[in-house]
Amino acid sequence: MTTTTEPAHTDTPQAAGGTAIFDSLESQVRSYCRSWPAVMTHSQGSTLTSEDGREFLDFFAGAGALNYGHNNPALLDPLLDYLREGRILHSLDMHTSAKRDFLQAFSDLILEPRNLDYKVMFPGPTGTNSVEAALKLARKVTGRQHVLSFTNAFHGMTLGSLAVTGNSMKRKGAGIPLTNSSKIPYDDYFNGAVDDFMWLERVLQDSGSGVDKPAAIIVESVQGEGGLNAARLEWLKALSDLCREYDIILIVDDVQAGCGRTGTFFSFEEAGFSPDIVCLSKSISGFGLPMALTLIQPELDQFEPGEHNGTFRGHNLAFVTGRAALERYWADDSFQKDVQAKAADLRAGLTRIAERYEGAAVRGRGLLIGIAFPDASAAGKIATAAYELGLLVETSGPEDEVLKTMPPLTITSEDLTRGLAVLEEATASVLGDGDPA
Ligand code: PMP
Repeated sequence: MTTTTEPAHTDTPQAAGGTAIFDSLESQVRSYCRSWPAVMTHSQGSTLTSEDGREFLDFFAGAGALNYGHNNPALLDPLLDYLREGRILHSLDMHTSAKRDFLQAFSDLILEPRNLDYKVMFPGPTGTNSVEAALKLARKVTGRQHVLSFTNAFHGMTLGSLAVTGNSMKRKGAGIPLTNSSKIPYDDYFNGAVDDFMWLERVLQDSGSGVDKPAAIIVESVQGEGGLNAARLEWLKALSDLCREYDIILIVDDVQAGCGRTGTFFSFEEAGFSPDIVCLSKSISGFGLPMALTLIQPELDQFEPGEHNGTFRGHNLAFVTGRAALERYWADDSFQKDVQAKAADLRAGLTRIAERYEGAAVRGRGLLIGIAFPDASAAGKIATAAYELGLLVETSGPEDEVLKTMPPLTITSEDLTRGLAVLEEATASVLGDGDPA
């Protein structure tokens, strides 16, 4: 995401309220609203509407929290029923029928059909909460402190997650040394010039390498924030094999790439392995409500009762919409096939655009793909031009050099085509028409 420190401008002066209160009262840490200063009031499906009546097509999907679109009626109706019936809203980790129904659906529709045996832990409701729980558990179970993570990784903003995150600007915000972790090269970090695994295997074998044996390795199958680098499936499988061989816990952070984003429910399914721990959040509630899960292989389920707790674990409204999403979209493989078809269309459209500009390349997997431009400033300018044309699209990568598309998985083919046309126009407005060949 482009993170300028310019003050947000007020682009709706005549609209009721304007944006003055954001400028005067809200912390300058705010970022998305600087790129998209409209005041949003309504949303439906793949469209947001601002208070001055403009419509924006959404190629952002709440940073992956709105995989099933905005105000999806299949999720909204059970939510409204639940609210009207005076049901339980807050319950810490007490038993509620909403939690039972969610767990049953998750077991029946997600875990069992995939032959996955996980315990479900509810950490606090955000992605970073899930990652913190995973890191803490891996350290507790192994008695080791060190964690390896990858170049350009993004795992969240709390100190443990930040320690395994790559971005130097975010890391600086910690204000203390971020320790107990080292970075290792992600797949293709050296553009194929060096076999990435040589380094890792060598240092694990070599008792003189000085690299402490890690408790865990944490990885994203696709680096959503770090530039849409997508690891090859065989690389992921080899990583899993290496972790098994050296008795290292493998954590897959599926906070952004999970819940169908890559075309299967989990991003690692096609790679043919099951991680020891999986982090899920963002779209697990399906409706943009905060919720996170940490999935744990049963033998690692070793926190004592209450050893890792929190007030907001198990958000009943999120259980209701999360269950509805699973039942509506994951009862068979038709939705998954539909997502895969749309992903192929989006890739084809982005490839057509990228081919016009020398050095531009499509990156990513599923409906988490984008275009990396050789001029790092291009993607941000194109995103700004797209906003002016009514499309929300963000940037990714250490220099914000990747134009990142992440539409709702439920987007219609017409909206996908329309969004691609806007991207083409926005790109041409910034970089010229390019080479039509
Ligand atoms: N892990 C990954 C892979 C993410 O993309 C994100 C959020 N962008 C997080 C963790 C952190 O999630 P949250 O912002 O909900 O803490």
